[in-house]
Amino acid sequence: LWITLEGGDGVGKTTQAALLEKWLGEHGRRVVRTREPGGSDVGALIREIVLHHRGDVAPRAEALLYAADRAHHVATVVRPALERGDVVLQDRYLDSSVAYQGAGRVLDPGEVRSLSLWATENALPDITVLLDLDPKLARERLDAADKPFDRLEAEKADFHARVRHAFLSLAAAEPKRFLVVDASRDPADISRAIQQRITALL
Ligand code: C5P
Ligand code: MG
Repeated sequence: LWITLEGGDGVGKTTQAALLEKWLGEHGRRVVRTREPGGSDVGALIREIVLHHRGDVAPRAEALLYAADRAHHVATVVRPALERGDVVLQDRYLDSSVAYQGAGRVLDPGEVRSLSLWATENALPDITVLLDLDPKLARERLDAADKPFDRLEAEKADFHARVRHAFLSLAAAEPKRFLVVDASRDPADISRAIQQRITALL
């Protein structure tokens, strides 16, 4: 079982991943919790590049770096775990690239998606949870949590609006893969909604 969590910065993906990891463990499942960018050894190096040079990497180079991270991550972490029968619980996957590099950086979303599918030999998760939140609220949350530095600050408001809209379009196009959750709700409620959907797949 392969679960991905998607959504903009500050929507609570990390919080939900932690709650879900605990719940899956209580149900006797072995969980590999991972993330993109940076979920593999090589990926950790790529993460340094994309985050520390954000804004000055050419958009197509950025898309290729995320795709390279993803290719190596799927080949060396995700596929082996799925073959062992573990649950893979992953913070961000190709939908993030379609939203951030495709819509955010204004590349062609379809091309960005194709690039990721090529990189991963068409690997798609069983379920993708989209945590949807107004970027303004997300920013308030990050500020309140005293999360430092350039997460939301690095890009203008219209960038985050395009990203949010792109995630929602992706979910609308693939309603069977996506579960969209209102991320302004209480974290425990959100987790219950996700658990309900996953129970059917366990
Ligand atoms: O917190 P997280 O590890 O998800 O942060 C990664 C950063 O990289 C975020 O600020 C996110 O906006 C950005 N990102 C991106 N394109 C992706 C994935 C993440 O710009 N495909
Ligand atoms: Mg996070």
